Amino acid sequence: MIAGTVALPEAVLAQEVNVYSHRQPELVQPLFDAFTAKTGIDVNVAFVDKGMVERLVAEGARSPADLVMTVDIARLAQIVDAGVTQPITDPVVLEAVPAELRAPDGQWIGLTSRARIVYASKERVAQGDVTTYEDLADPKWKGRICTRPFTDDYNVALTAAYLAHHDEDATKAWLEGIKANLARKPDGNDRSQVKSIWAGECDISLGNTYYMGQMLADPEQIEWANSVNLTFPVFEGDGTHVNVSGVAMTQAAPNKEEAIQLIEFLVSAEAQEIYAETNNEFPATPGVKRSELVASWGEFTANSLELTDIAALRPAALKLIEEVDLDG
Ligand code: FE
Repeated sequence: MIAGTVALPEAVLAQEVNVYSHRQPELVQPLFDAFTAKTGIDVNVAFVDKGMVERLVAEGARSPADLVMTVDIARLAQIVDAGVTQPITDPVVLEAVPAELRAPDGQWIGLTSRARIVYASKERVAQGDVTTYEDLADPKWKGRICTRPFTDDYNVALTAAYLAHHDEDATKAWLEGIKANLARKPDGNDRSQVKSIWAGECDISLGNTYYMGQMLADPEQIEWANSVNLTFPVFEGDGTHVNVSGVAMTQAAPNKEEAIQLIEFLVSAEAQEIYAETNNEFPATPGVKRSELVASWGEFTANSLELTDIAALRPAALKLIEEVDLDG
């Protein structure tokens, strides 16, 4: 409220929508600013780094949050499984986002997608050496792989996708093969693996596509980025592992109408372009331009798995990762 203004009656008070975001402020604020400029609806954001599900459950029907924005099908599924969401059935939203990037029952809607791929040393890995995810267990990579912990969400989802393509024994053997090929104990995040490649500690690592953009934009990390090629492995007989960032509507949603307007905006071509540009992710809405950098990586084929199937296999995947003690 601006000092000196007269309080307005309830009905004409600024409309608002409240978002709990697991995404970093700099990624989502440009979207909210554009939405507010267009509609006059304020977006209040609380950045929730840890304990999102616990917070939503504790607040229950009294939650001030209308929307939750997060990354990874695992986190979206955890929120839905906690019973704190309601389906998004708005026709504009369902029309804009392809079925494979949203929950069949509308409990979450994908806003961007990203592939989990291999970063490979320009110096020590020939183009075409990385082919499939299966191949990462091949002894030819012995002592050459760096990775963040496999118990982290991104690697659990990848392992769940592997499990969807193979049985438990084969998946376990794959995890054991990767463990045997590690240059060092899993540690750090996706970007620090690329730093390790740059430093000569290993030759390939797993990472999400958009981290290439983040590293290229960082004066310290640009050297790491420039030391690697991006390669898009596939599951044998299928495509590349893809995950999402997305949004869910809380059951409480005190500003449901405004929340739906915001989701409609987020899936619009205008917002999708901002989103894709800001974080170098793939737009969820077909026909929206990829950022120049993302476009430079070329086309790839996404695997045919349903994200909800990946989510369902997550506990089994995590159990195998722990059995193999990949991070140990
Ligand atoms: Fe990330």
